[in-house]
Amino acid sequence: MVSRVIPVDPFDLVIFGATGDLARRKILPGLYRRFLGGQIPDEACLIGAARASLSDDQFRAQIEAAIAEFVDPAKRDPAQIARFLRCVRYVAIDATGEEGWAQLKALVRPDRVQAFYFSVAPTLFGALAERLHKHEIANSEARIVVEKPFGRDLASARALNGTLAAHFDEHQIYRIDHYLGKETVQNLMAVRFANILFEPLWNAQFVDHVQITVAETVGVGGRGAYYDKSGAMRDMVQNHLMQLLCLIAMEPPYHFDPDAVRDEKLKVIRALDPLTSEDIVRGQYVDARGKSYVDDAENPASRTESYIALRCHVANWRWKGTPFYLRTGKKLRARTSEIAVVFKEPPHSIFDDDTGWRENMLVIRLQPNEGMNLKMMIKEPGPGGMRLVQVPLDMSFADALGEEGADMPDAYERLIMDVIRGNQTLFMRGDEVEAAWAWTDPIIAGWEATKARPQRYDAGSSGPEDALMLMHRDARRWREIRE
Ligand code: NAP
Repeated sequence: MVSRVIPVDPFDLVIFGATGDLARRKILPGLYRRFLGGQIPDEACLIGAARASLSDDQFRAQIEAAIAEFVDPAKRDPAQIARFLRCVRYVAIDATGEEGWAQLKALVRPDRVQAFYFSVAPTLFGALAERLHKHEIANSEARIVVEKPFGRDLASARALNGTLAAHFDEHQIYRIDHYLGKETVQNLMAVRFANILFEPLWNAQFVDHVQITVAETVGVGGRGAYYDKSGAMRDMVQNHLMQLLCLIAMEPPYHFDPDAVRDEKLKVIRALDPLTSEDIVRGQYVDARGKSYVDDAENPASRTESYIALRCHVANWRWKGTPFYLRTGKKLRARTSEIAVVFKEPPHSIFDDDTGWRENMLVIRLQPNEGMNLKMMIKEPGPGGMRLVQVPLDMSFADALGEEGADMPDAYERLIMDVIRGNQTLFMRGDEVEAAWAWTDPIIAGWEATKARPQRYDAGSSGPEDALMLMHRDARRWREIRE
């Protein structure tokens, strides 16, 4: 299979926060990989901005160091790196000050695709938007890319949307949720809407339930005090897990068009039933030495969850009666993200009860090893009568696509190229973000009112006992968390 790399138009990309962690680990190495892949034309320019006073060469050296650290050695080609760095510039700018903007204006070419990546704290988004506008740097088609978190509740998200809208149209605003940039997530839409096989079964009549798991092995050490102000609901569910839920539950859009897709996702969020306390389990990890989440958060009284499991219902014709179970947490047994669509039993079995029947399941793996796996029943081979065995129809994208599969762009690379192309399909619209907060706010307010403490769970386990019970009560069980 030959993948086509379609170069994007020449662009000027300004990265505010170019010396920060996200730029160093994801954005800059990702841009180099796309350059190497032939997608970025030589005329494209990259302009770094942050408060630190750096020369162009010092910034180039930082990029080289980031490439050395985060790009596969086989792809570190000195000649290509030199070519990539040729058009790199740096401007010292404080988002809240007035210096440096004239210099930036001189570098950003008005006749190019312009993109401004706000890889800084969200408190600076407004200041940046305002100054880009005031100094007449951004043209009417310029794109701004904003990172998560997009607010911490509905009120703050609305305020942030309002601030950005004062200077940029919605069609210029790209709110990143890097989960949407994953190959498998996009493939989910291809599998659902480019095949006839699944869509007739994709409803409450045939789907027993859906499980969405995003499990991490790391704790919050190092950024505990910051994390303690958000917790798993705000940090993971309100954005990543809800986006995945939307892609599973949404109706087919009339066209693969940014607003058509986002309209359908929005309808799912609006159709989510409110949750009761019975639908929610929150946890905090504790390790074998007794060191726990509250120690990492440096807040002994913390009631913030490092784990959450939810049972949700999408109140519409398609999904009436099919629960969606969501869970995410830190310090769990393995690092894995997956969606499992679990189908119902056939209406009547022609086989004996002890033949080994198990439910069909479509497992969509986001990480590690992106791919899909359809669990089917077949006859166990060999003599000995009719016994059934469940086998996976496994499609690891890396295996299925050979060299190209192993070389798939990561989510950030793909999303940045979409920004340059002006394609917002995989970015959250302002009303989507607000609707997601409108659903999560009362849930958070509910547990804040009761002052309930999250249940403890062992680091390295699958989460709190009550989370297992959430499923057991419904006569279901979670899939094992494993890589
Ligand atoms: P970081 O490591 O703290 O970097 C912040 C960057 O912003 C630095 O380059 C800093 O450089 C610059 N900066 C700070 N104050 C500034 C100001 N007043 N004017 C101009 N530049 C300023 O943060 P980060 O981890 O890269 O995160 C950046 C954004 O991405 C945040 O919104 C974060 O929530 C989001 N995010 C990060 C990750 C991640 O993996 N790191 C993941 C998801 C989302 P100077 O100090 O030199 O100005």
